[in-house]
Order: sequence, then C-alpha cells, then structure tokens
Amino acid sequence: MSQIPLPEGTSAESPDADDARDDSTRQIAPDVAYRQLAIVNVVFVGAPGVGDGKWVLIDAGVPGSAPAIRAAARERFGQNGRPGAIVMTHGHFDHVGSLESLAAEWDVPVYAHPLEHPYLDGTRSYPPADPSVGGGLMALLSPLYPTRPVDVGRRLKPLPDDHSVPGMPGWKWLHTPGHSPGHISLWREADRFLIVGDAFVTTKQESVYSAVTQAPEMHGPPMYFTPDWTSARQSVRRLAALAPETVVTGHGQAMRGTQMRAALDELAARFDDIAVPDYGRYVLQSGSAS
Ligand SMILES: [Zn+2]
Ligand SMILES: [Zn+2]
Repeated sequence: MSQIPLPEGTSAESPDADDARDDSTRQIAPDVAYRQLAIVNVVFVGAPGVGDGKWVLIDAGVPGSAPAIRAAARERFGQNGRPGAIVMTHGHFDHVGSLESLAAEWDVPVYAHPLEHPYLDGTRSYPPADPSVGGGLMALLSPLYPTRPVDVGRRLKPLPDDHSVPGMPGWKWLHTPGHSPGHISLWREADRFLIVGDAFVTTKQESVYSAVTQAPEMHGPPMYFTPDWTSARQSVRRLAALAPETVVTGHGQAMRGTQMRAALDELAARFDDIAVPDYGRYVLQSGSAS
C-alpha cells in the first residue's frame, strides 16, 4: 500500500511565533490553535486572551490529558481557562480521555452528532478494533484500547440541525461518517479552514513510530477503528472537494497549501488503494468498489 508523503513546505505551523507566545499551543490561524497530547490533537478555537466562556474546545485527548488541556487553556485564554462548550468530532477513547472530568469541572455543554451520542452517554460500546490492519504496533495493540462509552450525562447536546456550531460563529459542522457513525468535521468558509477529526489524518497512525514522531503523510482514517470504508471514502471525497487551505487533523501536524490539497485530492481519488486495508475485519462487509 503506497502512501502520500507531505513535503516540508506543507506544514501550517509557525514555531517561532509559538515560542514567542509561549502558551504551549501551536497557532495555525489567529483564533485557532492546537496541542498534541501524546498521540492525539485537541483544538482550541478562540483568540488569545478572550477569557472564560468565549472559546470552544474540540475533542478532549487521551486519558490523563486534563492537566495539559487545562494549563494550555489558562495560558492561552486567561482567567480560569473555561470554554463556552466542548465539541466532539467523535467519541473514540483517544478523543474522550479527559471529557468527563473537564465537562464536569467546567460545567459546559458537550456537542456531538446524535449518531455519536450512544458512545458519549454510556449506552453503547464501539465495535472491536481490528488489529490485523495497517501493519504497525498501534494496530497490533488496538484490541487493548478501550471501546467502552464515556458518560457525560445531561451535558450532552445534539449539534444544531442548521449545521451551525455553538460558540463558533462562521463555522459549520459536516457529517463525515465512516471512521465512526456520528463523526463530524468543522468547516469555516471565510479562510477555508477545516478541523478534520479522524476522517483523514496527516500521519500513519497505525505505526507507533509515526504516531510519536508524526512523520507527515496524507493518510486515510486510522484503520484499526474504521468499520465502514464506503462511508469513509465518501467523507474524504466530500472534504477534498471543499479545497481547504488549512487542515488540522486528529493525528499528525496541521498542514496547508497547494501541495496539501494535491495530496488530499490524491487520497480521495485513490482512496481504495491508499487508505483501505487489503484485508481485515471490516473490509469485506463494506466492499471496496468505487
Ligand atoms: Zn478515531
Ligand atoms: Zn483518533
């Protein structure tokens, strides 16, 4: 399976500016920053210094990442570093790790697609991970990853039917299923900014080496947790058709520009070759015809 490397010039990061700001985030738009916590990214939407209730957290990291998220939020936004809401791209364990504790501590609503609610209100577990795909240690270890749902109770709310995003004027949520049933991405037309979630990622997440070093490549959704490859293909094609200028994904570095778009177009065009495993638990049932 050949992959699509992302050349150096595609990084959306500004390390010097990040060092100067020193709030432990990587800022990729004046009001969008992210932080890598172990293997996964969380995204902060809001301008620096806006204060409590005026920004939104996207996803909640791996278990144990609450202190790092809390610290980055205080440094970046000031006051108590409390957001107005948390928006979930989906409910996999590496995105909900600190969700219960942060939602309770901040007492804020948690917005997710209704199809993802069973995994966030304690009613349903995800299907088991598929260790046979991707050929890396992260994939081999995947049966050990938690699939049990978290429960944020009464704080869980559906994303609005009109596709607006609470606390994020100018943004729309897009249903991008495949990697999980209620997976969403977030899109801002004004600067063509895409918060992807795991619909595609910019590192080979199946390999522990790439997951840690984040070698940049345009990659389909993490294979071991993707049960519906037909929907996953449609979602990548829909996102590529938007022609985003900047993308921040659940795993890997934020990327931008023409070469990023070329790589995303190639992933969309050759999705079955590049992203879909040749074999595995979920491949036969979803088919690979395009
Ligand atoms: Zn995921
Ligand atoms: Zn993930």
